[in-house]
Amino acid sequence: MHDTCPFNPFVERIRIQEKIDAGEKTSALLSSLGDCKRKTPPLARTIIISTLKNQKKPVPEAFIEGIPKAELHIHIEGSLEPELMFEFARRNGLRLPFTSVDEVREAYEFADLQSFLQLYYQGVRVLVNERDFYDLTCAYLKKARSQNIRYSEMFFDPQAHTGRGIAFDTVIGGIHHAMLDAKQRLGISSKLVMCFLRDLSEESAIATLQQALPFKDWIVAVGLDSSEVGHPPEKFTKVFDKAREEGFLTVAHAGEEGPPEYVWQALDRLKVSRIDHGVRCIEDPDLTARLAADGIPLTVCPLSNVKLRVFESVEQHNLKQLLDHGLCVTINSDDPAYFGGYLTENFLAVQKALRLDRHDIYCLVRNSFQAAFLSPDEKQTFLDELDNYISQNQDK
Ligand SMILES: [Zn+2]
Repeated sequence: MHDTCPFNPFVERIRIQEKIDAGEKTSALLSSLGDCKRKTPPLARTIIISTLKNQKKPVPEAFIEGIPKAELHIHIEGSLEPELMFEFARRNGLRLPFTSVDEVREAYEFADLQSFLQLYYQGVRVLVNERDFYDLTCAYLKKARSQNIRYSEMFFDPQAHTGRGIAFDTVIGGIHHAMLDAKQRLGISSKLVMCFLRDLSEESAIATLQQALPFKDWIVAVGLDSSEVGHPPEKFTKVFDKAREEGFLTVAHAGEEGPPEYVWQALDRLKVSRIDHGVRCIEDPDLTARLAADGIPLTVCPLSNVKLRVFESVEQHNLKQLLDHGLCVTINSDDPAYFGGYLTENFLAVQKALRLDRHDIYCLVRNSFQAAFLSPDEKQTFLDELDNYISQNQDK
């Protein structure tokens, strides 16, 4: 801790500000003020938090729908709605094993992660041309914007496409150009996280990383997804080392179906900044304490967890427990076209089932902006927008 903030940076901040206001504007004081500001929330935010904690009124759906949000765990291929699946199949001259949109939706009953992945990989086969990836990404970002998602970090699975002969630049070109257009037309910001399929070899992941290097500026981080059990994070130590050397941030799916040990490995071997899912960390008190102490965010996906039978129901979800352990929990949709809801639907489901109050919702949304791969200034802009929303909607 900085020596100008001995025990209470908040009090210190006010003391320094008073001195500066009184004309004592030395560079040392200004620098101390900067330090204290970084360690304390703005005054407005502390007022907001205490007001929300005392707010016992029910949380209206409109409050959740309108709150500015960030999403950090969404697989772009998992946003493929059946209507688009049929359209892409038609224009690419492909046959689907379904006769109607309703039949596709009826097939979305899963026993576990593996049974979902079979359908997921069948779905991605309709993505062939750059225009398909562009249209898919546009459709998600448009939907996201309609839910007041202000910022999204999207996963994509290049190996699910290159493995069937689609060029890497076709995939990333379509996604990237949709992101640029969505920023310009809809005002939604987004970044891209490239995932390696963990059921494939590390050599295949390394080859994929090589393919990605010319597009380094378009990808903020690398991650690890697909079948978890039997494919521990340590299998990918070398490729994650290389990715970090190349300047990528790292994340990994761990502790969804896999044991807490996989979360340890993701932290210690892959040196990830965030854990995707991570809900099984609760089985290991030392791990839970480590995640809390290091402020490692979890990107939790409640509807996905229920659909894939990680929890029997949203009521049984351990989200509240995770929050009570001081973990930086965020809410996300994972594969929204398959799991029955986008981000707002996930928030509405947990609010209702776990009786979250306004303060819980505020913390969850705030965590997402804090955990995002954004600069401090970018985060601050979104957090200010969030606080303004809370201030203006307190009485509703
Ligand atoms: Zn996921």
